[in-house]
Amino acid sequence: MSEPPLSEFELIRRFFADRDRGPGILLGVGDDCALLAPRRGQELAVSVDTMVCGTHFFHDQPAESIGHKALATALSDLAAMGAEPLGVLLALTLPKADEAWLSAFAEGMGALVDQFRVPLIGGDTTRGPLAISITVLGQVPAGLALRRDAARPGDLVVVSGALGGAFAGLRAEMERRDVEEGPPSGTDPHCQRFLRPEPRLALGKTLRGRVRAAIDISDGLLADLGHVCQASGCGARLEADSLPQDPLLADWPPGEALAAALTGGDDYELLFAWPARQRPELRPLAAALQLPLTVIGEFTTGPGIEVLDAEGRSVASRGQGFDHFAADD
Ligand code: ADP
Ligand code: MG
Repeated sequence: MSEPPLSEFELIRRFFADRDRGPGILLGVGDDCALLAPRRGQELAVSVDTMVCGTHFFHDQPAESIGHKALATALSDLAAMGAEPLGVLLALTLPKADEAWLSAFAEGMGALVDQFRVPLIGGDTTRGPLAISITVLGQVPAGLALRRDAARPGDLVVVSGALGGAFAGLRAEMERRDVEEGPPSGTDPHCQRFLRPEPRLALGKTLRGRVRAAIDISDGLLADLGHVCQASGCGARLEADSLPQDPLLADWPPGEALAAALTGGDDYELLFAWPARQRPELRPLAAALQLPLTVIGEFTTGPGIEVLDAEGRSVASRGQGFDHFAADD
C-alpha cells in the first residue's frame, strides 16, 4: 500500500522548517512573512537566483548536489558584494512530493545552511516542472559593499582559487553521458567541480574596506571581468601564463585549456580589483584564508580586455560585444 501524498504544509514542516533561527531573525518559517532585524549601520544586500531542471542541472543529478549548488551559487552573490548572509528564502516548484528526493535535497541545502550559519527563513512551494529559486538576504556595513563599478586603471586583477574546473568537469560528464546511462557520480572529482561550488563568503567579508570592486565568476572570467570593466569605465590586460588553471585542465591541449580558464563558467571564484600599492598584503591574506589569490593582470584605461602571452603577443581579446581567440592549438 502506498503512503498518502504529503500535503504542502507537512512537506514544509518535515524538510524546510527547522533551520530558521539565527542572529537577526525575529521570526522564521510559518507566518506570512519572516521578520529580520539587520544590525545598525548595515545595508541590506538582496539577490535571487533560479535553477531549472534540464537547463541548470541534469534531471538525474543527485538531489543533494542540487540543493547544495542552488544555495552555494546564491550565496556566491553575497560573497561578491562583501555581504554576510542574514537569511535565505526557498521557492520550490516540484512535479511531485518525492520524499527521498526532498530529503536528499534538504540535506544538501542544510549542510551549507549549517556551515555558513545562514538560516532558511521562508519560501514558497508549488507544483510544476522542477525549478528552484533562492533569494538571499545579507548585510554589509554602509558604504563598504564591493561593487562592479568601482575598479580603477592601475588596480591589479586578482582571482581566488582555480579557473576552468567546472567547465572541464561538465565536459567530462557530457562525454560520459554519450556512452553510458545513469546519474553523475557524487564522488568523481570531475563532477565535484560543477556539482559543488564553494561560496567564497570568508574572502568577500575580508575584502571589504580593502577593495571596492568585486564580482563572482559565474559566466566565465572574460565575461565577468567584462562586466566590471564596463561598469567601471575601464579595460584590462591579462597575462595568459598567470591564470590559475584548474588541475583538471592539465592534460588538455594548451590552447583549449586557456580558453576554458578564460571562458568556462560556473567556477564561482571571486575576481576583485586590488590596489597595486597593497600588493605585498595579498600573500599573507591568501595564507590566512587558505585560498590561492592570484594576480592575473591589471585594469587599464581601456577600452576592452587584452590577454597577452609571455612575449607580449595578444592571444585573446574582448571588446564591445565580441570575443576573439587567437590561440587555437
Ligand atoms: P502564504 O500562503 O502566506 O504565502 P505559504 O503557505 O506559502 O504562506 O507558506 C507557509 C509558510 O511556510 C511561510 O512562512 C513560508 O515562508 C514557508 N514556506 C513555504 N514553502 C517553503 C519552503 N520551500 N521552504 C521554506 N519555507 C517555506
Ligand atoms: Mg506562499
